[in-house]
Amino acid sequence: MILSARQEMAFLDKFIKLGPDDCWEWLGADNGKGYGELRIQGHKCYAHHIAWYLHTGDWPSLHVLHTCDNPACVNPNHLFEGTNRDNINDKLSKDRGGSRYLTIAQRRELLAKSQLGLFSERELAKQFGVTRGCVRHITLGKVVHI
Ligand SMILES: [Zn+2]
Repeated sequence: MILSARQEMAFLDKFIKLGPDDCWEWLGADNGKGYGELRIQGHKCYAHHIAWYLHTGDWPSLHVLHTCDNPACVNPNHLFEGTNRDNINDKLSKDRGGSRYLTIAQRRELLAKSQLGLFSERELAKQFGVTRGCVRHITLGKVVHI
């Protein structure tokens, strides 16, 4: 499927392009779950898929995921192509108390530091740049696969 110039304009018309690191929020219709939607040649297309297509020249063969967690975002810098498994892992990690920004090594380090008993939750949260709730999740072992 190739977009006509008019369809491309219709797409570009429905969000405001901010800086390269900002979320470009879709202002058109959404699918009820926050994902932007545009009707093209009778097909409903995800706005972020169109963003991907215009950016890369290819329609995504897999899932297009958001690094920013904002389904309405159509900034291609916030999008990456992933497998179905990535999609599930991504969702799981996001449900795990917001610790997705920590690598496994960092979680281990955080856990080790907390077991030393030298740092408060608040200090640990500050050191690792996460919330206190996130620290608690990790120290209480709610984060699986450490
Ligand atoms: Zn974004």
